[in-house]
Amino acid sequence: MISFDGVSKSWGDNHVLRSLDFQVHPGEKVSIIGPSGSGKTTILRILMTLETPNEGVVRVGGKTLWDVPAGGKAKETKETRLARRDVGMVFQSFNLFPHMTALANVMEAPIKVSKVPKEQAREEALELLDMVGLREHCEKKPPKLSGGQQQRVAIARALAMKPRVLLFDEPTSALDPELIGDVLGVIRDLAHRSDMTMLMVTHEMRFAEEISDQVVMFDSGAVVEQGPPAQILKEPQHERTQRFLRAVL
Ligand code: ATP
Repeated sequence: MISFDGVSKSWGDNHVLRSLDFQVHPGEKVSIIGPSGSGKTTILRILMTLETPNEGVVRVGGKTLWDVPAGGKAKETKETRLARRDVGMVFQSFNLFPHMTALANVMEAPIKVSKVPKEQAREEALELLDMVGLREHCEKKPPKLSGGQQQRVAIARALAMKPRVLLFDEPTSALDPELIGDVLGVIRDLAHRSDMTMLMVTHEMRFAEEISDQVVMFDSGAVVEQGPPAQILKEPQHERTQRFLRAVL
């Protein structure tokens, strides 16, 4: 469903991704772990077309999102835009429109981007807000909602575009500890019930163990090791993974 082949990304002398090869199969739930600055968020941002690779090929659902030859420049094509439609993202800091109600936030992209009729978009948005436990708060604007509630609206907003791939960038790291559980509950339900491909950058190791088919340990812009959570989190083979887990567990 997702493939990175020989993908590199640098900012000046900072080589963030180093000829990265990485695959995620359709429907898989994958957690990416690794130290700060290792390039985890950059992978998600390239999939969202918020960043461009300097080199390499990125595919989503059989479509080419990026194809950048050595020494070339990333160009958005028609296929980039088609592939991009399959991808949704939930950001660390929610990124909701603060002046719009929760309902309007969720309805916005289906109406503006997918040209869904307003009444249908409203029905679907209400169903999604119900699913994340926020139907009764649908007329509130983000500043009137807790961080956990805002993040659940952000999840509903991402789902409103019916993505085949949903990306989560440390979805609970900006939340107070007592608000984390509800957000993880929504993600857990999605992971168990939906056939979407899910890719999550997280520092919640126990949660990663519970919901993931695969855990990928990342360092210095490359995959250190990857496998089922029991293997990577309980019996890591690489010294780098062992050291990282000792520091965070
Ligand atoms: P964290 O766990 O702290 O979020 P990460 O593994 O997600 O880290 P990235 O956010 O992908 O790491 O960043 C990797 C490196 O790329 C960092 O050194 C960061 O400073 C650099 N970087 C990211 N975005 C930019 C940018 N727009 N301009 C310049 N440097 C950037």
